[in-house]
Amino acid sequence: SQTRTRSSELYEEALKHIVGGVNSPSRSFKAVGGGAPVFMKRAEGAYFWDVDDNRYIDYLCAYGPIITGHAHPHITEAITRAAQTGVLYGTPTELEIHMAKMLKDAVPSLDKVRFVNSGTEAVMSTIRVARAYTGRNKIIKFAGCYHGHSDLVLVAAGSGPSTLGIPDSAGIPKSIAQEVITVPFNDLNALEEALNAWGAETAAVMVEPIVGNFGMVMPEPGFLEGLCRLARAAGALVIYDEVITGFRFHYGLAQTYGVFPDFAAIEPDLTAMGKIIGGGLPIGAYGGRKSVMDQVAPLGPAYQAGTMAGNPASIASGIACLEVLQEAGVYERMDALAAKLADGLQASANRHGVPLTINRIRGSLSTHFCDHPVTNYEQSQDTDGAMFGRFFKLMLEQGICLAPSKYEAWFLTTAHTEADIDATLEAAEHAFAAL
Ligand code: PMP
Repeated sequence: SQTRTRSSELYEEALKHIVGGVNSPSRSFKAVGGGAPVFMKRAEGAYFWDVDDNRYIDYLCAYGPIITGHAHPHITEAITRAAQTGVLYGTPTELEIHMAKMLKDAVPSLDKVRFVNSGTEAVMSTIRVARAYTGRNKIIKFAGCYHGHSDLVLVAAGSGPSTLGIPDSAGIPKSIAQEVITVPFNDLNALEEALNAWGAETAAVMVEPIVGNFGMVMPEPGFLEGLCRLARAAGALVIYDEVITGFRFHYGLAQTYGVFPDFAAIEPDLTAMGKIIGGGLPIGAYGGRKSVMDQVAPLGPAYQAGTMAGNPASIASGIACLEVLQEAGVYERMDALAAKLADGLQASANRHGVPLTINRIRGSLSTHFCDHPVTNYEQSQDTDGAMFGRFFKLMLEQGICLAPSKYEAWFLTTAHTEADIDATLEAAEHAFAAL
């Protein structure tokens, strides 16, 4: 059993200087019963070491970007080279073209791209561009999908599908929330109803094509096709937020993932990306159809800019990460390990009478402490947060690091091994028994 004295001390200190002691609220342990978050000091491969020298197997993976494991030599070398040749120029570089072509080669819907610094920025920019292109203001989104912390997408559902949104955060004007309509995921009738009411004012329908933010949730067959058809019939654009899903399940995006047989029918007008494509350094990107992207300055009237955008370090890191992911068999290996992990967790939970629903998509899985399928946000709400909180801490004490959120996925990396999975299942067996 571990002690985390130093983490507790640092947390007390951090609370005096950094809001809530953390630089992103999801890092606090508020949602898992409170206490000091673990302060990590080093990471390599599938492992973390904290400031008290405890070792952890990492399934947090920095909320998704770390798909090759920490400090992957190929990425480290690229970042080192970038550091030695200057990390920020404020001029174009050849590497940016190389990276743009890598994205385009993997994703047919991208005629042109623009690099930014985060997923939030990428999403914000797609909305600006969609509004510029259509001359309309409203956005339709889906309940439980997270699109970053910009005003427009931090808006929850009103009381029904045909009501306008209410702010999800203080500091968001009602006037902005009124431009957003939120409907349930996997519900084409609700989308149609919203479009009937607001379609003529709708600039875009935005969706995580495979959801990563209330667990891993697949669109039901026909949902994305129907979404695209309904949006276009209303003259609205389709925006896919692939910040989590990009290069997660295969070398490409959710929109090019083989389970959707008819890519053309689900192709978006605009796509937002982030996370994995930076190899761990800050990045975002958005792109889409030429006619739409040509709205962006300096070509068009939609302004979007960035001092740090396309910086040589993030681009070099991103290219190196994508190169690792091009190696044969990497996704198959993560898939196989995640399957073993999911099967083992399910069997262990069943043995101890713990209700558990696992949604697994290749190397990512979400664990819902409930006894029914999770295909939309409402169902995910039944996940027992208190039980997850206890499970989370029981796992942490045994050196298994999960995200401190009942919705967040467990991510496999190319660095995880069979032995890591075995150790994790052994820890889970103790945790489920203790629940
Ligand atoms: N979109 C999705 C689907 C996300 O999951 C996230 C982050 N979890 C974002 C956008 C925002 O990205 P960032 O945190 O890089 O701003």
